[in-house]
Amino acid sequence: MIEVENLSKLYRLGQEDVHALREVSFRLDAGEFAAIMGPSGSGKSTLMNLLGCLDQPSSGTYRLDNIDIQDLSANRLAEVRNRRIGFVFQNFNLLPRASALENVELPLLYGRVSGSQGRAREALDRVGLKDRSRHKPTELSGGERQRVAIARAIVNNPAILLADEPTGNLDSATGQEIMEIFRGLNAQGVLVLLVTHEAEIAEYARRVISMRDGRIESDYLREAVPC
Ligand code: ADP
Repeated sequence: MIEVENLSKLYRLGQEDVHALREVSFRLDAGEFAAIMGPSGSGKSTLMNLLGCLDQPSSGTYRLDNIDIQDLSANRLAEVRNRRIGFVFQNFNLLPRASALENVELPLLYGRVSGSQGRAREALDRVGLKDRSRHKPTELSGGERQRVAIARAIVNNPAILLADEPTGNLDSATGQEIMEIFRGLNAQGVLVLLVTHEAEIAEYARRVISMRDGRIESDYLREAVPC
C-alpha cells in the first residue's frame, strides 16, 4: 500500500545542507499498525510529511496504492491525499472559531461531497463525541480536541491514517484513550502509522520502526500486542 524506495530529503539552510532523510526504503501493507520511534531530529516528521504528501522528497520514489506520487500534478496530488490519507497532528490543528462539527466537515467541503454534515456527525460518533458537535475547540478538553481531529482525519474513510505524536500533548490516561480509538480503527482495516516517543504508546503497534540520523535503524514486529 505504501512503498518508499531510497527516499531522501535535503534541506538547504544557508550554506549548510541538512540531510533530514537518507535513502529510506520500506513498505507498509494494508491494515498494518506501525510506530516510528527515534530521537528528536532523526527525521520522523520529515518522513511523515512526505508520506502524507504534505512535502516532496529531494530524491527517491513513493508509491501509494501503486500510484507514483512524484509523477502527480499538484491537483491530482491534493485529490489523492484528501481521499486516501487522514492526518492527525500533535497540536490538533483545529480551526478555533469553528465548531467540532464544522472542523470535521472541512475536508468534505474541499472535496465537494454531498451530505457532508451527516457524514461529519457519523465521524464524530465513531470517536465517541456525538454530543459535543456544537462545541468549539476551546470548550473541549485536550483528549476531546484530539478526537475531533481524528474524526476529521477519518471523515473521508481513508485507508491510511498518519499521526505525528498524537498523544504528545495529552496526559497518559487520555493518551491511552486516544490509542484505543486508533486500535479500533486499525481493527476495521485502517493502516495506522504513528510517531511516538513513548514506549507505552508504541506498544499498541505490531511493528516498530526506529530512526536515527535520517535512516531506519531497526524495523521489527512486536511479538505480543496487548488486547
Ligand atoms: P524529528 O521529527 O525526528 O524530530 P525532523 O524530521 O523534524 O526530525 O528533522 C530532521 C532534521 O531535519 C533535523 O536536523 C531538523 O533540524 C531538519 N529539518 C526539519 N525541517 C527542516 C526545515 N524546514 N528546514 C531545515 N531543516 C529542517
